[in-house]
Amino acid sequence: MIRYSLFAILLLAAVPAQAQQQAQQLAQQPASILPLIDAHVHYSHDAWDNLPTADAIAILRRANLRKVLVSSSSDEGTQRLYQAAPDIIVPELRPYRRRGEIGSWFRDDSIITHMEARLAQYRYVGIGEFHLYGADADLPVPRRMVALARQYKLFLHAHSDGDAVERLFRHDPDTIILWAHSGFDRPDAVRALLKRYPNLWADLAFRNDHASGSKVDPAWRALFEEFPDRFMVGTDTFTPERWYYIEEHAKWSRAWLADLPAPLAERIAFRNAEALFARTGFRIDR
Ligand SMILES: [Zn+2]
Repeated sequence: MIRYSLFAILLLAAVPAQAQQQAQQLAQQPASILPLIDAHVHYSHDAWDNLPTADAIAILRRANLRKVLVSSSSDEGTQRLYQAAPDIIVPELRPYRRRGEIGSWFRDDSIITHMEARLAQYRYVGIGEFHLYGADADLPVPRRMVALARQYKLFLHAHSDGDAVERLFRHDPDTIILWAHSGFDRPDAVRALLKRYPNLWADLAFRNDHASGSKVDPAWRALFEEFPDRFMVGTDTFTPERWYYIEEHAKWSRAWLADLPAPLAERIAFRNAEALFARTGFRIDR
């Protein structure tokens, strides 16, 4: 605490307003709080009315999140949050223009035109989260999306089965994939894919089998230890109501991460997500 306060005072002497604000926030936090990145948040059109942008940002700040990876249907939601809080929001381009395109986007050529227009106008770390299963990954629209990810140096955030993940890697073995929900697969199936693909990362969003209360499940612990650099946490606000779970999710994540050795907990809490963002062309420090 003393160290942070001194740091804040030193910073206040010489830096611009945004950095001052960050230093003040840092000084207000208990020194022991684990920095956390929520790598799975959506701010879609049906959330905007009941949860105005300023209130959404307030939730993220109350949860003490260091960064938040956001994608929305439509992308306008992500842009609103990013403009309001560029210090914590990390934007990702969701292909969907509205709720309801989950099951049709991969056969819809106009999605490509839409993505090209957004990519030309805004900056992102990734494309996703999108939903894609099995052989649908071989259709022309997903193939073009993989090419766009390469062109713009972005990762893909795939809510997919293992089969679709493998097909995406076949289109471009150098692509980087963040596997949403770790595919809702069992630890041994997740292990098999992580072993095969060094560019595969996985989020733990909307699952609760990896820890019960503050105790990490033994099978997941073994997987975290085997692949300390690949996992990250996320809430998944796929419906507007789930925004009110963000703080609780952060609290619970900090609780079970405390059951792991500190270096491993820090990687899953924020270092892996930061390393993933750094693999893209996006500058997150601004
Ligand atoms: Zn999601």
